[in-house]
Amino acid sequence: RALLVVRDLRKYFGDPDRGSPVIAIDSVNFEVKRGDFLTLLGPSGCGKSTTLQCIAGLQHPSSGQIDMDGEIVFSDQQGITVPANKRKLGMVFQSYAIWPHMTVFDNVAFPLVHGSARVPSAEVKRRVMEALELVELDHLALRYSPHLSGGQQQRVALARALVHQPKLLLLDEPLSNLDVQLRDTMRVEIRQLVKQLGITTVFVTHDQAEAMSMSDEIVLMQSGRIMQKGTPRQIFLCPKSRFAADFMGRSNLIPAALNHDGTIADTPFGQLRCNPDHKLAPNSRALLVIRPQAIVVPDPEVDAVSPNTLLGEIRTLSFLGETVEIDLGINGHCLKVMADPYLSLSAGQVIRVVLPPERCLVVPDP
Ligand code: ADP
Repeated sequence: RALLVVRDLRKYFGDPDRGSPVIAIDSVNFEVKRGDFLTLLGPSGCGKSTTLQCIAGLQHPSSGQIDMDGEIVFSDQQGITVPANKRKLGMVFQSYAIWPHMTVFDNVAFPLVHGSARVPSAEVKRRVMEALELVELDHLALRYSPHLSGGQQQRVALARALVHQPKLLLLDEPLSNLDVQLRDTMRVEIRQLVKQLGITTVFVTHDQAEAMSMSDEIVLMQSGRIMQKGTPRQIFLCPKSRFAADFMGRSNLIPAALNHDGTIADTPFGQLRCNPDHKLAPNSRALLVIRPQAIVVPDPEVDAVSPNTLLGEIRTLSFLGETVEIDLGINGHCLKVMADPYLSLSAGQVIRVVLPPERCLVVPDP
């Protein structure tokens, strides 16, 4: 059974009777399985934080239903039935909201000392030290937060969110104030920590690499709506829209006209066999999506004949070490290709490339 169920959630801001309201989220539906790490991903303003705040009980949804651990916490009929402070949540925000006049220990103890339940002081001490050990800050318990690094403050916020053993952890862009290197380490640490504790987590970010490296499941949003749900692999390898293809990484987006059974596309690069797993009507206009790294540059010595083989001239080539980025000119159009750095390639050279049909995805042309 899912730990969190969000059904048909909507949130409007402003008075709908006077002027048009801002639709922050519209018909948002998703579930988070117990112990799973789910990420709400999308560009700024797409409704990620509003969704998270509705889950936290910090925003009153306009309509829909939210269930937590089998209990309705919000519904259309009853409104908010379980307030924020009774939802057994841990939260970390972008601004860590650490109090500068308190020690690390007191910051982490705050939810226990000021919560609804009275926790005996020996137990407070034990639980705070346990939480600090989890984030490896037990040696800094008596330090004041202005004397901590960004990464350490982030860990204090995490320890405070975990100290009352929440059922659900909500993280809103917690890594965006850290420098790049620290962010990479914290991605791994946070994921390991919540997995080790078995805590169900909803994470918010606009960074697709962050989302892919941390999540069991990604909910991709645009303009208040869900565009696609799936594992990082599913969303990256099988985007269902131009938006998803573009947002998750670079893609070649090729205008295409489908044939009668949807298996062959007429494109500026000629006729290409495509992945037939799409719901577009025969003979419709579409976009053929293929990622630069999905294109194969076969060994010139081997002349096996594969479908979707094209000849092109290397217009520009950047050697990046891990890969070689190529702009390939074909029929006056450009195809982006990422090639193996061990191949010896140079600008001006004419090469063969193969676009494997199963990697040529078809999405609607909006
Ligand atoms: P994200 O977290 O994806 O950046 P938000 O959930 O913060 O997006 O915002 C979604 C939309 O709702 C945006 O258009 C934003 O301007 C609007 N919005 C958010 N909070 C408020 C508010 N308190 N009042 C009016 N509009 C708001």
